[in-house]
Amino acid sequence: MTTRGLMRRRFFRSLLAFAAWMIVLGVWHENVPRNHALDLMIGPLAALGFVAVEAYWWLTPCTACHRTIGWRACIWRLWGGRPRACPHCGVSIDK
Ligand SMILES: [Zn+2]
Repeated sequence: MTTRGLMRRRFFRSLLAFAAWMIVLGVWHENVPRNHALDLMIGPLAALGFVAVEAYWWLTPCTACHRTIGWRACIWRLWGGRPRACPHCGVSIDK
């Protein structure tokens, strides 16, 4: 599998996990007795899911040198049509 393919797979997996996380939070929020502390927690818990998604993208490894490509994985996945190379080993993310 190429690094680009790995980025694509991690992108879709993280979206599924985030959707599942939001469903769990919604079901939990609707089915436990309401109180002020719960209402204060729901926002940070949703934000925690978003941070986890970003971290999962950030930690995408290069398939050639196995070092993480960091913020590039977040950007290249969203605007990834152009040829790109790993910043550590220089191997194309399409190889
Ligand atoms: Zn590399």
